[in-house]
Amino acid sequence: MGKGTPSKGKKNKASSHKTCRRCGKHSYHRRKKFCASCGFGHTAKLRQPSWRNRYRAFNGKKSFYR
Ligand SMILES: [Zn+2]
Repeated sequence: MGKGTPSKGKKNKASSHKTCRRCGKHSYHRRKKFCASCGFGHTAKLRQPSWRNRYRAFNGKKSFYR
C-alpha cells in the first residue's frame, strides 16, 4: 500500500502521538519514541531549532538562549 487514498483508512487505528512526559504537549511519537516538540527521547537537551529563535536573533539581542 502506498501513500494514496487507500492508505488513509489506516489513519484512525492507532494514535501516533501521546502526551509528552517532559513538555506536556501531545507530541510524543509512540512508535518513533521521541517528542516532536521538545525532542524528548532523542536528546537530553530541549529541542530548540534555530528558526524558533530567529525573531529574537534578528532583533539584535544575544539573549535568545535565555
Ligand atoms: Zn515533549
